[in-house]
Amino acid sequence: MRLLLFGPPGVGKGTQAKLLANEFQIPHVSTGDLLRAAVAEGTDLGRKAKVIMDAGKLVPDDVMIGIVRDVLNSPKAKKGFILDGFPRTLNQARALTQIFGELGIRTYQVLNIEVDNEEIIQRLSSRLMCRNDGKIYNTETENVVAGSPCPDCGGVLYQRDDDKPETVRRRLEVYHTLTSPVLKYYEDLGVEHTVNGMDSVEDVNLNIKRILQSAEAQ
Ligand code: AMP
Repeated sequence: MRLLLFGPPGVGKGTQAKLLANEFQIPHVSTGDLLRAAVAEGTDLGRKAKVIMDAGKLVPDDVMIGIVRDVLNSPKAKKGFILDGFPRTLNQARALTQIFGELGIRTYQVLNIEVDNEEIIQRLSSRLMCRNDGKIYNTETENVVAGSPCPDCGGVLYQRDDDKPETVRRRLEVYHTLTSPVLKYYEDLGVEHTVNGMDSVEDVNLNIKRILQSAEAQ
């Protein structure tokens, strides 16, 4: 299975990607997680990316395309993958089509998760992430606060710097201007499917699997 998860920040891409990666035993490739790992390691890329991420902007296309090309060429991606957070620009989408061509990948699906803007702002302001396993929690719906241990692995829960309100606004602007045109690109290729992200995590997961099954049957 090769799946691209698409949608604005806070829509639940990471949560769904983790569930599906576990169910289908394929890697979850989150470009945001890869950048955050580089930031945590203090690499050259990490230092440069942090400034851009904290401003709610996009890391340059050539850097991101290079990262994704390497991951998709690695043995662990041979059986399939879930891409989360890439492509975010038309340039990245075209480069991905080229990479797929080089790798002989002909079938993949794009899942667009849709949620109201209001809900996104609400979700991001109450979102916490585990420093250890990247799992997402919500202070409104779960019994967690920043600094408390991850119920799954005991890692520390924290609020991402780019989930602060000013940065969230900028990230949503970037999404609407640079990223949403990518959807049209995939609609034209006939591989785009939309799922309602306002449903529960379990229902969104079931709906994604239904869509994938019917796409496979065609
Ligand atoms: P995410 O965890 O997917 O919300 O990504 C966090 C941040 O990492 C984004 O706001 C961007 O600054 C950067 N980033 C992640 N993926 C990409 C990408 N495909 N292109 C450019 N920047 C990215």
